[in-house]
Amino acid sequence: MLVVFSKDVSQEEIAGVERRIAECGGDVRLVQADDRVVMVVSGGDTGAMEFVSKLPYVERRVLMEKPYKLVSKALHGKVRTVEVAGHEIGGRFFHVCAGPCSVETREQLLYTAERVSESGATFLRGGAYKPRSSPYSFQGLGKEGLDLLAEARRITGLGIITEVLSEEDVDQVAAVADVLQIGARNALNYALLRRAAGTGKAILLKRGMCSRVEEWLLAAEYIAIQGNERIILCERGIRTFETGTRSTLDLSAVALAKRETHLPVFVDPSHAAGRTDLIGDLSRAALAVGADGLLVEVHRYPERALSDSGQQLSPEMFDDLMSSLEPFTQAAGRILERRSSSDLAGGGHSGWSG
Ligand code: PEP
Ligand code: MN
Repeated sequence: MLVVFSKDVSQEEIAGVERRIAECGGDVRLVQADDRVVMVVSGGDTGAMEFVSKLPYVERRVLMEKPYKLVSKALHGKVRTVEVAGHEIGGRFFHVCAGPCSVETREQLLYTAERVSESGATFLRGGAYKPRSSPYSFQGLGKEGLDLLAEARRITGLGIITEVLSEEDVDQVAAVADVLQIGARNALNYALLRRAAGTGKAILLKRGMCSRVEEWLLAAEYIAIQGNERIILCERGIRTFETGTRSTLDLSAVALAKRETHLPVFVDPSHAAGRTDLIGDLSRAALAVGADGLLVEVHRYPERALSDSGQQLSPEMFDDLMSSLEPFTQAAGRILERRSSSDLAGGGHSGWSG
């Protein structure tokens, strides 16, 4: 059960409810949702529910069967948007976040950043810390990569999305990132989720490649329960028996997550397909099913990329993708959010020539 208190509730009144619910065997957790205090009650008998329903300083009581509560659509009764880097994610807006799989060199990152920005991306993606299947593969530039991302933001005005792999890196990554990415391999790393949530930064939570939708939403609940509701879910494909694609893009999970939660949901067609020729089709399908944005890999020279070279679009291919999305966003009743040239400090083209 969720107990949403009215704005003018006092600390004593909340403490009184807490005591009473504990007496009925219930467990209580308090969170701030917008300008209201919300009590998340698990367990307890019907006595607790009846008691709460009679209190004048309780605005609403929501009975919930689902194990996730704070990310549930029932909490606010509607979808919510996440404000980040001057943008609104979700709601009417459709965002495209693009950039290389890994940050490799200054020239590679800045050139790609500028090109995706010109094509209309609002956020630059790029891993400084890379979760590679093989310990012998390129592991990312680490701190140097973060510095390059910060420079790319200064030059292009793009928001930065980058992955945090371990708890000890959280502060360092959060100092640069506008959005902390939790990758598929860490999707159920609860200690990392808690630690990342504590920074208050927006978090892009990928679905684990073997996670059920309920596990994904419960992982999001770990973030929300830390008082951080700035969560963007991201479907990136799951493991199935199919070998024609790298993963199987589960669009039904996107539709389900949109129904179940108030959170924006993105789709990453790059890691789902693992090949460039399907990315346009999957992106347009994502829009049709109700996704709020895309995370797409783009590299100046895809064939030379140090990670995921087979799935990264060239800047030209990305530009074509963006043009192809325009009529689909309109048909879906969405606005394709673009970084406007006025976002740049000097206005217009940044002049970085690589
Ligand atoms: C990535 O976005 O580069 C990445 C490693 O993604 P995932 O965690 O979905 O595999
Ligand atoms: Mn990748």
